Amino acid sequence: MRIPHSDVDVPTDLYVGGEWSPAGDGGRLETTNPATGEPITEVAAATADDVDRAVAAAREAFSAWRDTDPDERGRIVRRIGELVREHREELAAIESLDQGKPLSQAKSDMGGAARYFEYYAGAADKLEGTSVPVGPDQIDFTVREPYGVSAQITPWNFPGNLFARGVAPALVAGNTAVVKPAEQTPLSSLKLAELCAEAGVPDGVVNVVNGFGDPAGAALSSHEGVDTITFTGSVPTGQAIMKQAADTVTPVTLELGGKNPALVFPDADLDEAATWIDRAIFTNAGQVCSAADRAIVHESVYDEMVERLVARAEDYDLGPGAEDLDMGPLASAEQYEKVTSYIETGVEEGATLAAGGNALDREGYFVEPTVFTDVDNDMRIAQEEIFGPVLTVIPFETEAEAFEIANDVDYGLTSGIFTSDVRRAHRFARDVQAGNVYVNKWFGDTNQTPFGGYKHSGIGREKGLEALDSYLQTKNVAINLAEGESDSLPGA
Ligand code: ADP
Repeated sequence: MRIPHSDVDVPTDLYVGGEWSPAGDGGRLETTNPATGEPITEVAAATADDVDRAVAAAREAFSAWRDTDPDERGRIVRRIGELVREHREELAAIESLDQGKPLSQAKSDMGGAARYFEYYAGAADKLEGTSVPVGPDQIDFTVREPYGVSAQITPWNFPGNLFARGVAPALVAGNTAVVKPAEQTPLSSLKLAELCAEAGVPDGVVNVVNGFGDPAGAALSSHEGVDTITFTGSVPTGQAIMKQAADTVTPVTLELGGKNPALVFPDADLDEAATWIDRAIFTNAGQVCSAADRAIVHESVYDEMVERLVARAEDYDLGPGAEDLDMGPLASAEQYEKVTSYIETGVEEGATLAAGGNALDREGYFVEPTVFTDVDNDMRIAQEEIFGPVLTVIPFETEAEAFEIANDVDYGLTSGIFTSDVRRAHRFARDVQAGNVYVNKWFGDTNQTPFGGYKHSGIGREKGLEALDSYLQTKNVAINLAEGESDSLPGA
């Protein structure tokens, strides 16, 4: 299809074994423009049989890809990164239309996508094992080998960026991939598949099967031919995938969202803190697993902080992604219903609506940046992931109380503290139950830094060299140097 008002074409079929093909039963699903609620186009909707075909193609391609010289694998992956950079504007236009985010945020996502390919390309020929000293009579070493077929089930908040976050390390480690993008936002993944082919990725090494969670996602995560699963999305879906993966004893890497605390102490620069928190909760209309969902603010600066946060929230201009204003619509009708219903819940629970709280009176799924004050950490709006532009502000009196509130949720993805006291910052970094800690900033993660959750926020790490652990298994090799028979047993 052609993206309206542009010369950008996006494929709409399934990409399997290096070819574009419709779904076996001819089924298609509609993807809509969340700024209008109108359909953009229809893409093929994979059946379980289509997923079978994709897994078979990935299995067939595996041994040749695994045995490709690592430096050559690295060159191909680097080339994908170059093409993503060259096509950054187009990819951003596609993402912004399909997902709703402002164009400049989509461009930033695509710059990040290019970086994943560049970063991991350099690792392809450095995936070394170790030599283990076990005495003079045995040579012992480890090799790190790919699993085989990597299933990548991606969400709708950063579709193109997360395609790159998973596919790049999977490929450099020698795995092949089957990607199942979210049904709400398939278009950037399809374009990326096209760029992978152009970069010289052999047929079958990257496959994309658009489709619904059921049947396509479930068929993929329960497939005997899949060797490792990477999933980013909601906790219930992550749990379902983990259960399915248990039947085939397939390892999972799960990134499942957060309800992240941002602590503000009286010794912080309040303007800086407010600016970071504002950006951290309203970027991508709050549909960010690492968002600052809970501002936990010392009572002596509570009113001053609320004033700053409200002023910033009320300053937002909302509009379709292509207009590149401050905030776009929520990504889907379903998400719009969910967020507006949480806002009602907050009011019913007795929190004070200090800013926003309304849907815009226009077509599309626009919800105002919203700030709730007088929030108690036991309220549902403080405990459950809303995944929208809704900030809860919670007061505290003592450091111990602030740390306790920070940890008093099921999640543990990101966390932040605003303070000029270096000891306090380190105490927080030590005590907080979260995979990522930011001090006097937010979104401190880069492509190079490991990212992932404690508690219900997930298993395993994305990004950084640590992400490669999800795509490599260790083989230990023991070689006897001693001649003749031996009756020694392990542990002797
Ligand atoms: P949300 O609930 O926020 O829409 P999900 O976590 O359900 O997000 O979806 C993230 C991804 O998981 C999407 O690609 C979706 O199609 C997929 N998915 C949903 N249900 C299942 C399932 N049972 N098995 C595998 N994948 C699924």
